[in-house]
Amino acid sequence: MKATPDSSSSMEEILKNNRKWVDEKKAADPEYFHKLAKGQKPRYLFIGCSDSRVPASAITGTGPGEMFVHRNIANLVVHSDMNLLAVLQYAVEVLEVKDILVVGHYGCGGVAAAASNKQLGLIDNWLTHIKDVVRLNETEFLRIADKEQQLRRLVELNVIEQVRNLATTNIIQNALGRPNPPRLHGLVYDIHDGLLHDLNVETDIINEFKHIYGVEAIELAEEAVEDIQAGKQQPAPTEPKPNGKARKEEEEQARKA
Ligand SMILES: [Zn+2]
Repeated sequence: MKATPDSSSSMEEILKNNRKWVDEKKAADPEYFHKLAKGQKPRYLFIGCSDSRVPASAITGTGPGEMFVHRNIANLVVHSDMNLLAVLQYAVEVLEVKDILVVGHYGCGGVAAAASNKQLGLIDNWLTHIKDVVRLNETEFLRIADKEQQLRRLVELNVIEQVRNLATTNIIQNALGRPNPPRLHGLVYDIHDGLLHDLNVETDIINEFKHIYGVEAIELAEEAVEDIQAGKQQPAPTEPKPNGKARKEEEEQARKA
């Protein structure tokens, strides 16, 4: 396809900016790219919205090599999203990131679209995950009379729910059973003033629902500690406890009998 004058001039601009950036980096440190080429060991994984006003590096003051990044519309953590899961597993198990940031932003078009009842096409299915957040928090959501405040709160509730989704992946659940698991953070970026706000949600989210989402190893380890503290004998390691499904079936059988 022949490039239009507009598209070639816009690409010239991009390439010109790139060369200017390379020159500046080399002027500050002639070995800059040589060092970066050796490999990456980023401390952070950033999961944010694709919105062009929320550039991961710029708003966090991080440079190349410091932050692994995944972005999608409305910063969702969906348990069947292979793209997200692959990024998460690589970041946690190979790069061993220390902090995972789920970053939403006020004024998010995806969140606003989910809160409206307009049909937009394929994306409606993606945005249904945010409608689920409304359903889970409906009482609080409907109590807010001001539309703008309602959307701002939905942005926050969406971040909290996505941190919860993150915490309940088997990748994070397994990491929690190892030394130095990554810390999870929920943040909201305000495009009106450029400030990031920490919602301070990690501890609550990791501790709630672990009887449902926690991996069996963690559950058994905790029960063993409780048994020791209560002075009870530890269960024999050769007799594994039935998992949730098996336990439910046993209870069902007992109920029918
Ligand atoms: Zn957004």
